[in-house]
Amino acid sequence: MDSNRSLVQSALFPELDAPASRVLPVIGEQKDIHYHSAPAKSVLNGPEVTGMGFWSINPYVGCAFGCAYCYARYAHRYVMERHAAKEAMSAPLARDFAAMPPWLAFERHVFVKTNAPQVLRKTLRHGSDRHKALINGDTVVIGTATDPYQPAERRFRITRQILETLSEHPDMSVAIITKSPLITRDIDVLSRINRHSRLSIHLTITTPDRELARRIEPRAPTPEARIRALGRLREAGIDVGVNVMPVMPGITDNPSQLEELVRRVAEAGATHVNSCALRLQSTARKRYLPWVEAEFPHLAERYRNTYGRDSNAGEKYRIGLRKFFDRLTRKYGVRGWSYEPDDEEQGDMREAIAEHVVAEATATQLTLAL
Ligand code: SF4
Repeated sequence: MDSNRSLVQSALFPELDAPASRVLPVIGEQKDIHYHSAPAKSVLNGPEVTGMGFWSINPYVGCAFGCAYCYARYAHRYVMERHAAKEAMSAPLARDFAAMPPWLAFERHVFVKTNAPQVLRKTLRHGSDRHKALINGDTVVIGTATDPYQPAERRFRITRQILETLSEHPDMSVAIITKSPLITRDIDVLSRINRHSRLSIHLTITTPDRELARRIEPRAPTPEARIRALGRLREAGIDVGVNVMPVMPGITDNPSQLEELVRRVAEAGATHVNSCALRLQSTARKRYLPWVEAEFPHLAERYRNTYGRDSNAGEKYRIGLRKFFDRLTRKYGVRGWSYEPDDEEQGDMREAIAEHVVAEATATQLTLAL
């Protein structure tokens, strides 16, 4: 294992660095997905461990939504390798560890931190250092690596139980990142948090085009369903913004589609809209480039050329994208990167979150009409 890879894994799921000691039992199956119980020693990851400016919680390792640009896949591989080394794999896991490409195993074998709510409850006992940090201004973000409202959550309700624990503690700052309208199931507990803590939801929507979304994020909810969820959360008085990220050059950066998206989420009540061009570090590149080759062969060479030099889109592209979104957010009256009429502190936190979300997820080619 190279040191970069191990660094990424540790940053995404540091709590799973504990030695694998026993077989992870299968606790559920759903079509072609297996769920494995993976109790964690800790669930609240601190800024000093993750290198991010906030605390993070990820109830699941692996994600069935299957986004082509997902950067969390190799952290999942790390968990599998550790259990393979200890001969601590169930039969389906061992079979697919040997036969399935790692990027696919990430979608088909999801590890569930079944004890996460109990561990969090202990961690946040009144007066503990972590409790003090979280009531003194630090933010905790749920879903920095994998989606906390992926299909597993419908069955295991780990995210909901975590929120219930957080709702017992006033004066916190809580943020949630998701693509799923399942979050509206928890409007009751979200409202409880919202009454005495600062809460913000960050819905990711990369395109308003349903068919295109299906190709990029094959098992994720439709853009329409996400926008409806946005409306319901706003009706409940909850702060909800939209992350249009990553913007995939040549694929999701059609200017009229992006404008349609910003218009629709603004009409649904989005409090802020942020965007960022795709970035591709090595772990995400291994899945993304072959996917571009298969789905958008006319873009393959351009993408290869870009990533041969850098993990970022060209500077011109990034600046152009930001200017384009600045214009859109002003036009439709929602806060964005530069259009921030109030609450600077909230803006800083959103920016930190958004930057992490796209931390590994980019390319070239500017089709935006700037
Ligand atoms: S929803 Fe997030 S974690 Fe799940 S596959 Fe997509 S990018 Fe990865």
